[in-house]
Amino acid sequence: MANKIPRTPVREQAPEVRAANFEEVCFGYNREEALLEASRCLNCPRPRCVEKCPVHVNIPGFISKLAKGEIKEAADIIALDSSLPSVCGRVCPQESQCEGACVLGIKSEPVAIGKLERFVGDWRIEHPELFTPQHPAPNGKKVAIVGSGPAGLACASDLAKEGYEVKIFEALHKTGGVLVYGIPEFRLPKEKIVAKEVEAVSKLGVEIENDVIIGRTMTIDQLMDEEGYDAVFIGSGAGLPRFMGIEGENLNGVFSANEFLTRANLMHAYDDSYDTPIYTGKRVVVVGGGNVAMDAVRTAKRLGADAYIVYRRSEAELPARVEEVHHAKEEGVVFNMLTNPVRILGDEKGWVKGIECVRMELGEPDESGRRSPVAVEGSEFVIDTDVVIMALGTSPNPLIRDTTDGLDTNRRGCIVADEEGHTTRPGVFAGGDAVTGAATVILAMGAGRKAAKAISEYLSEK
Ligand SMILES: Cc1cc2nc3c(=O)[nH]c(=O)nc-3n(C[C@H](O)[C@H](O)[C@H](O)COP(=O)(O)OP(=O)(O)OC[C@H]3O[C@@H](n4cnc5c(N)ncnc54)[C@H](O)[C@@H]3O)c2cc1C
Ligand code: SF4
Repeated sequence: MANKIPRTPVREQAPEVRAANFEEVCFGYNREEALLEASRCLNCPRPRCVEKCPVHVNIPGFISKLAKGEIKEAADIIALDSSLPSVCGRVCPQESQCEGACVLGIKSEPVAIGKLERFVGDWRIEHPELFTPQHPAPNGKKVAIVGSGPAGLACASDLAKEGYEVKIFEALHKTGGVLVYGIPEFRLPKEKIVAKEVEAVSKLGVEIENDVIIGRTMTIDQLMDEEGYDAVFIGSGAGLPRFMGIEGENLNGVFSANEFLTRANLMHAYDDSYDTPIYTGKRVVVVGGGNVAMDAVRTAKRLGADAYIVYRRSEAELPARVEEVHHAKEEGVVFNMLTNPVRILGDEKGWVKGIECVRMELGEPDESGRRSPVAVEGSEFVIDTDVVIMALGTSPNPLIRDTTDGLDTNRRGCIVADEEGHTTRPGVFAGGDAVTGAATVILAMGAGRKAAKAISEYLSEK
């Protein structure tokens, strides 16, 4: 029976090798492995995996095609719901979504849905000639998209497929949002994967203009009143880092994870042929327990530092993907759990020399359902370090809010929008991290797609 086959292991770079390079950790499945793994799927009549996928990819549909070796057909099925399969196959938290719900997981191991999606997505990238996009007749309406992250790209793709003239305005010189400036090369290759998925969006007829900051180069009002856009989608993400507000955060050697990762990824600081400076010293302490913290600490490790995580809760509460935590440990990252920084210590020249922390224990559950950490009195201790990286979450940049009348934001600075992406300003839609605060690629993509539908309905009624 199909479910007697054990989950097909995936090949990876050995930890001691990859901890010193920026190449992709996971090699993914080859054809034979992918077909074998696909054959494990039971093709459930009421697939729980699909219910748990935020964009409801027809998982058994694509896997059953793949199991028969019909990879093009599998790719066509995924493309109905996802424009970024190679990205999502690599970075989605499958363990809490599709794979977490897979019926095979009850008695053994779930189908490796993410790795199969990745295989099909990569196959599609390698066979562009088989995927010529249809160009519908233009419907004469123009939509502007602010930001080229997963939310903007997904919204743009769906609208272009319906005949809208779509243009993305992106502040950075590269397209892809966090996919290019945040998530490191060793998890998500930029040229081989992100650039190709962006290219597929461009091939639908979407125009992309980089180096344009909406709210500075041009406002949303100008886009609508002067440039003739009938609607605007804001997918500007949540790129503003948070700090703890503790003593010593202004010392030399304290960075936000955003800055550290942008230097490494977008500005190639790890590559000697670029001049971008990046400072790690001998030891780096990263404060936080999410994907951003794991990316920062693993980047620091690859740059040659002894790398430490400091996280105030226990391992069970770590918000990062299980795979990233596992990989970080294999690579030699040291985890200090139930530990919270109290202040950062500096030398006489103003450089970081240590971080004072306090031990924590878990108390009662808070509103998120997770047990709250409580400081253990008198347990303070110092970790010597040269660099402290804060990975404590991010919020949206206030620029668009401050330059757009009638656009409400909440107390966290997120744009107020309903499930379909309608904001408080008619004709202006929003989705992704700009609305939810820092979340996930697939949720941003889903929000972009819902907003595309709402924009289309709004413009047809108009
Ligand atoms: C380091 C890191 C690791 C992560 N790891 C994972 C992971 O493993 N799995 C996962 O699912 N999620 C992960 N996430 C979260 C995920 O990447 C985000 O939730 C997702 O990218 C949000 O998509 P978005 O389109 O809303 O915004 P973004 O990806 O942030 O894109 C927004 C874009 O808008 C541009 N922009 C902003 N303001 C303006 C303006 N005024 N004018 C023009 N352009 C503007 C920005 O430059 C950016 O390119 C990670 C995030 C980070 C930072
Ligand atoms: S729940 Fe698991 S076995 Fe069932 S269709 Fe989804 S992937 Fe296949």
